[in-house]
Amino acid sequence: MAAKSPRKRTSGAKALAVFASYYRPHFPLFLADMFCASLIAGADLAFPVMTKYALEKLITPGNLKRLFIMIGFMVLLYILRTAFSFFVTYWGHTLGAYIEADMRRDLFAHLQKLPFSFYDNHRTGHIMSRVTNDLFEVTELAHHGPEDLFISLLTLLGSFLIVLFMSWEMALVLLCLVPLMIVHTLVSRVSLMNSSRSVKEKIAEINASLESSISGARLAKAFTNEGYENKKFRGGNEFLKNAKKGYYKSMADFHSKLEFMTSLLNVAVIAAGALLIAAGRMTLPELITANLFASAFLQPIRRLQNFVEQYSTGMAGFNRFLEIMAIKPDIIDRKDAVTLSNVKGDIEYRDVGFSYSEARNGSRDSDENFVLKGIRLSIPAGTTVALVGPSGGGKSTLCHLLPRFYEVQEGSITIDGADIRNLTLESLRRNIGIVQQDVFLFAGTIRDNIAYGRVDAAAEEIIEAARKAEIHEDIMAMKDGYDSIVGERGITLSGGQKQRISIARIFLKNPPILILDEATSALDSVTEFKIQQALTELARGRTTLIIAHRLSTVRNAGRIVVLDDKGIREEGRHEELLASGGLYSTLYHSQFSPEASRRWQGPDSLSP
Ligand code: ATP
Repeated sequence: MAAKSPRKRTSGAKALAVFASYYRPHFPLFLADMFCASLIAGADLAFPVMTKYALEKLITPGNLKRLFIMIGFMVLLYILRTAFSFFVTYWGHTLGAYIEADMRRDLFAHLQKLPFSFYDNHRTGHIMSRVTNDLFEVTELAHHGPEDLFISLLTLLGSFLIVLFMSWEMALVLLCLVPLMIVHTLVSRVSLMNSSRSVKEKIAEINASLESSISGARLAKAFTNEGYENKKFRGGNEFLKNAKKGYYKSMADFHSKLEFMTSLLNVAVIAAGALLIAAGRMTLPELITANLFASAFLQPIRRLQNFVEQYSTGMAGFNRFLEIMAIKPDIIDRKDAVTLSNVKGDIEYRDVGFSYSEARNGSRDSDENFVLKGIRLSIPAGTTVALVGPSGGGKSTLCHLLPRFYEVQEGSITIDGADIRNLTLESLRRNIGIVQQDVFLFAGTIRDNIAYGRVDAAAEEIIEAARKAEIHEDIMAMKDGYDSIVGERGITLSGGQKQRISIARIFLKNPPILILDEATSALDSVTEFKIQQALTELARGRTTLIIAHRLSTVRNAGRIVVLDDKGIREEGRHEELLASGGLYSTLYHSQFSPEASRRWQGPDSLSP
């Protein structure tokens, strides 16, 4: 049942195939980039050839006209090369940025599809790191990768053929060192990629710890735990520093050995050239040209070196991207899923069982780990059921199964007789409104936060919803009214205001089924009374599930269901449950009598 296997790695060839598929929408730009890149390679090859020709044929004392014409050509060639280089640098990088943006778009869209269980098990900072940092180097790889590879191979082959044409002995010298370089490059690639991956993991750790510390900064101050936070952060920072050191060590090892081999190439050309001249098999201009080609030979090798480095860091990030993309969202529409429409609102829980660890791991869990087991609950359309019970009894879990935030593992839930697993997620969730215990507001205006209930709502509808939720006056008293910025997570608002804004969202959404999770817990008694009336009005004709700890708020509910970790223990009206002297009665008295509260030790002591 879980969003499965985050650590599954994609094979190298498959990863490359997926990478290549991102070029498809930008193929014309990619072709133009490669075309200009090959012209640059051509210009680089032409320069030594022209030099050779000038040295051999055009330096004739008293007549330098043809030499200057040749120099004119060379200048023209370099002007053209500059223009191509501009195109490649600008549009090539832009192509990389397009590809990176496409990957980020896909990753974000995928994250939107992943279920609650994924977010339960992954820290926010880790996820953010995958979306931002891990894909940074992909731009460079996407742009330079194919280009470096293409130009390098072209110039390597071109210069080798020209040297071969001039002197096969010299070509042999060049050829001897190349396999060594290739082997070294291949070996280094593995360690570069591993160390780059380790850096990315540590960056994700640091981001997660930063996210947690910054969002908990107020708590740290309240507990004067700034020192402790600093120590925690220093630990993560140290790990990142060491991971980077490890990466730079692999990089230094790769570069220095390759530099050594390329220097050897220069020496070998001079030595072989000297021997060939001494043997009368080569002329001085030929040696100078061969030397120029040896340099031309070095340039693509440096490019390849660059490519290997970029490939290692870029692919390490891309593989982490693929890991998340490989997680299959398990709560999705079935092929034959139907749209939930014209909802009456009959809800039925039929022998429902659910375990969080089973949802997380996907493997069968033992019965004692089930939060809910054998739950049978029938809520006729248009009625209100209040769920009460000790903390941790599973009230929120029971409600979260209805919009399929988690999938039931045993039994089924139906709405108007239809199994919710056979309905499209969009239509199911559109018909359910939830006021969460933990109100979440987005950083932005109050208007936007209310409109989140229905993003296409008109301004008057937003105001109407705010009025119903008893928040309109509070908003009008603010300097910027509905355009007031609520700050991160609504930090500039009181708890009661935040809750009323979240209630206004539901008024706007106007769904036939309501889940009110502690909806009135943070309101003062006057506002609470008004809200209660508004909620009663809202609940009229709709199926409503209310979770409440303060039993005063559910006293008037038509039906109260008492839930603890053993399942549904009691059902009935307030007076009936109180009279029966069971769990509800004990809970009720524990809230209103300090003595009873002292007696209450936990769910087991509540057995009637
Ligand atoms: P409260 O009244 O305190 O909100 P509740 O009755 O709503 O509690 P739930 O929140 O449904 O209870 O939790 C039921 C059990 O499931 C608890 O033991 C809790 O620790 C566990 N639980 C809740 N959410 C998760 C989660 N996302 N992952 C794992 N376990 C969870």
